[in-house]
Amino acid sequence: MTDKLHELHYCAHNYDPLPVTIVKGEGSYVWDDEGTRYLDMMSAYSAVSHGHCHPRIVKALRDQAAKLGVISRAYNTEGLEPFLKKACQLTGMERALPMNTGAEAVETALKAARKWAYKFKGVEPDKAEIISCENNFHGRTIAIVGMSTVEQYKDGFGPFPLGFKTIPFGDASAFESAITPNTAALLIEPIQGEGGINVPPKGYLHLLRAMCDRHDVLLICDEIQTGLGRTGKMLACNHEDVRPDGLTLGKALGGGLLPVSLFLASKKLMDVFTSGDHGSTFGGYPLASAVGLEAFNVLEEEKLSENAATLGQHLKNQLENLNSPFIEEIRGVGLFIGIEIKSSEAHAREVCEKLLKKGILTMYTNRNTVRLAPPLVITKEEIDWALEQIAMVLEVSRAA
Ligand SMILES: *Cc1c(COP(=O)(O)O)cnc(C)c1O
Repeated sequence: MTDKLHELHYCAHNYDPLPVTIVKGEGSYVWDDEGTRYLDMMSAYSAVSHGHCHPRIVKALRDQAAKLGVISRAYNTEGLEPFLKKACQLTGMERALPMNTGAEAVETALKAARKWAYKFKGVEPDKAEIISCENNFHGRTIAIVGMSTVEQYKDGFGPFPLGFKTIPFGDASAFESAITPNTAALLIEPIQGEGGINVPPKGYLHLLRAMCDRHDVLLICDEIQTGLGRTGKMLACNHEDVRPDGLTLGKALGGGLLPVSLFLASKKLMDVFTSGDHGSTFGGYPLASAVGLEAFNVLEEEKLSENAATLGQHLKNQLENLNSPFIEEIRGVGLFIGIEIKSSEAHAREVCEKLLKKGILTMYTNRNTVRLAPPLVITKEEIDWALEQIAMVLEVSRAA
């Protein structure tokens, strides 16, 4: 482990990294610059669900890079259609629009929802409203942080666009009362990630779907973090058999190698975009299409969702048995688990620093919560080893 932190002289201070410099990754493990190995239980905020440097995805990247990397959507490319077809088949959606980062996919969703409201719902120009939830995290653009209820995300960055409002997460009737004739969409994470791994009551999404249908409002699920097997199903909304009208994917879609994101939708919703309405220089470029397609193939063929379901249940059960004075609550589904630390006992960052010393990488999130979101290729043996380290840290850290 090192305290060099050489990046801080030139790098903007918009992150506060743990004191370690990672130089190499393979599967569930990474190594620092002194050769120490760590089990990655952070997975780059779920961007590394396939594990580090998955050989098949690396091969797809290499092969495509040697053939055609970037060309732009001013031309057709051979890889885009197979990638988007696979994305639609595996998510039950009809159309997909490729972008790069998660925030761009969310911005795309917001634009689609607004245009749909004017074109199909008859909302008067510039009156469309989009509802999101308290404690949401949808990215960092000005419009998106404008939807946030976390003060720090907004502080100093106003003014923000109009037409957004928030409701409490997990309360379906609060949503129905917030709907007006101008409401275009509800944008929601089926399980809040950055907000603290918050799991809503059972049936919540189902109720939201029914309310959206009743009031002609779009249901847009942001599954950038919860999608692609993380919660033990392809999508977190599959747990309640809910099909959204719009869906955002990102993070793990890049197979742990590239930023790749998608906005997916029904045909009717996607058709609000016509040529020239919206775009991105890199969105859907050949390298991203090749990597994204292989990321889907690996997810399916290696049954990563199933692994997340089985091992996630095991991890959660074992954590619930821990009986530690530090644990306030264990929340999560699949390999998407938060350990909320009692604020009176410790800050979650201290727990993360102690875990780092024990060879486990993780990071804390809102609500004083330690996040456990390992690559979905993790094995039971690795989880059991992690549980031993976690048990030590959570029981001895008071004396340390
Ligand atoms: C990370 C995340 C985003 C933003 O993705 P970026 O690639 O960082 O722009 C959006 N929504 C959710 C739910 C996320 O977890």
